[in-house]
Amino acid sequence: MSLKKIYLPGRFNYIACFLTLNCNFNCDYCINWLEKRDNKWPQISGQDWTHALNRLVSRRDLPITLQGGEPSLHPDFFSIINNIETQLNIDILTNLSFDVEKFAKEVNPSRLKREAPYSSIRASYHSTQMSADIFIKKILYLQKAGFSVGGYGVLHPLTKDHVLETKEKCEQFGIDFRVKDFLGQHEGELKGLYKFEGSVGSTTRLKCKCRTTELIIGPDCKVYRCHHDLYKGFPHIGNLLEPEFDIEDIFRDCDQYGDCNPCDLKIKTNRFQKFGHCSVDIKDIVKAN
Ligand code: SF4
Ligand code: SF4
Repeated sequence: MSLKKIYLPGRFNYIACFLTLNCNFNCDYCINWLEKRDNKWPQISGQDWTHALNRLVSRRDLPITLQGGEPSLHPDFFSIINNIETQLNIDILTNLSFDVEKFAKEVNPSRLKREAPYSSIRASYHSTQMSADIFIKKILYLQKAGFSVGGYGVLHPLTKDHVLETKEKCEQFGIDFRVKDFLGQHEGELKGLYKFEGSVGSTTRLKCKCRTTELIIGPDCKVYRCHHDLYKGFPHIGNLLEPEFDIEDIFRDCDQYGDCNPCDLKIKTNRFQKFGHCSVDIKDIVKAN
C-alpha cells in the first residue's frame, strides 16, 4: 500500500536519515554517542526505509542525507540508495570505511549527482581510526569512478594540526577538504559557537518553545524534534511509516533547554554554504517552576 505524500515545509533546510546509529569507529569526540555507546540501536529493513522515504516530496536543492552512525553498516545500504525515487536527490555522510570497489559496482554515480556547492558524498576523516593515505586513496578511487566526494575533518584540539596537514595533503590531490569546529567539552571548557547562550552544556534546564528546520528521522523511521531527543531516547513526534504522519512546522514546548545537543544549536553553514544558520529557533525561555 502506498502512503500519502508528505511535503517538506519551505523553511526546512535538511533531511537527516539515520539509517543506523551503530558505528564501526570509536571517536572520542563523537556527538552521536554522548549517551549510548553500545551499538545496539534499533534497525528496520531497507524496504521499509524506501517505502517511508518515497513519501517525501522535497525540492531539488534539498536532498535526503543518508547518515548515521555509519550508514553503510545498514545491511540494505545499496538497495536503499537504488530504490529511493529519482526525484529525490541523495547525499551520503560517511566515515568511508565501506568497500569502495563494491560501492562503485552497486551504485551508479549519476544517482548521486546534483547541483550544489558541496560534494554529494561527504567523507569524514577520523585520524585515530583511518590513516590519511587510505582516506585519500579511497576518495580518489570513488572520484575516478565518477562520484562527487569531498573530505571533512573536525578541528579537535588534540588532532587539529594533523587534520590541517591532511587538508593540505588532500588539496594537493585536488580533493575538496573542509574543516569543522569541534563541538562539546574539552578540558572543562565548552567549545563551539552556539546561537542561544546557555543552551548547550549547562547544568540547569529551562523551558522554552523550539522550532526546527530539520527533518530528523531515527533508525526505525521515528521522527524527532531534534538530535537531543533522538540520541537521548526522548519521545518521538511521529513515524514516517505511519499512514497519517505529516510534518508540522510549529514551535514545540521543551523543558530541556540547557542540555541541547551541539548539532542543533551550533551556528553553521546552510545547504547553500552560507554561514550563520542554526537548525532551530527558540523563544520564550523561562525557568522551570
Ligand atoms: S565515525 Fe562519526 S559516528 Fe562513528 S564514532 Fe566517529 S564521529 Fe561517531
Ligand atoms: S530546546 Fe534543545 S532540546 Fe529542546 S527541542 Fe529545542 S533543540 Fe531540542
